Amino acid sequence: MSTEPASAPIEGVDFVPVGALPAATAGELVARVSRHLAVPCRLRRPDPELYPTLLTGRTQYDAHTLLRDLEARRDAPERILVAVTELDLALLVFTHVFGLARPGGGAAVVSLARLRPELYGLPADAALTLRRATAEILHELGHAAGLDHCQDFTCLMHFAPDVESIDLRGQTFCPHCAATLPPGLLAGSAVGEGVSGPG
Ligand SMILES: [Zn+2]
Ligand SMILES: [Zn+2]
Repeated sequence: MSTEPASAPIEGVDFVPVGALPAATAGELVARVSRHLAVPCRLRRPDPELYPTLLTGRTQYDAHTLLRDLEARRDAPERILVAVTELDLALLVFTHVFGLARPGGGAAVVSLARLRPELYGLPADAALTLRRATAEILHELGHAAGLDHCQDFTCLMHFAPDVESIDLRGQTFCPHCAATLPPGLLAGSAVGEGVSGPG
């Protein structure tokens, strides 16, 4: 658990689509995430050179190298850069990842591939997919801003190994995690009010 004091202020969050992500999906996600944040969110144009490599012997893409490439493309240390993709991301030692960020690394990658109910034999539900993606982006933003996992299972920073856990976790940070985030990052994070907007 991180008990470090709040880190340096973040002045904005930039999003960049990776691979074939519909513009409407990217725009909707930026709008949803920005409702939770007090800093401006911007959607960058796609960068054709930003594309993950396939993991050897697998049909999934390497989240780690994508994150490394992303960290090198940040505009400024005060801005977090988030890549959103439909590509199925994984790591050598994991079957898949919903997202990835290094604590305090200032960048995060999130994949929608395994957030869709249809992957699990359920009816397609675009609203549910967007809700999960929003929660996952906020979770990885928390890591990128320096937070570790949280033991409070209702907190966005609780570890979620599957989509059911993402749904249970909700859409807000617990008061401790909210207070550990950089000051002024969360919407409604004035002193004495720890959590973000309605979820
Ligand atoms: Zn995590
Ligand atoms: Zn927490």
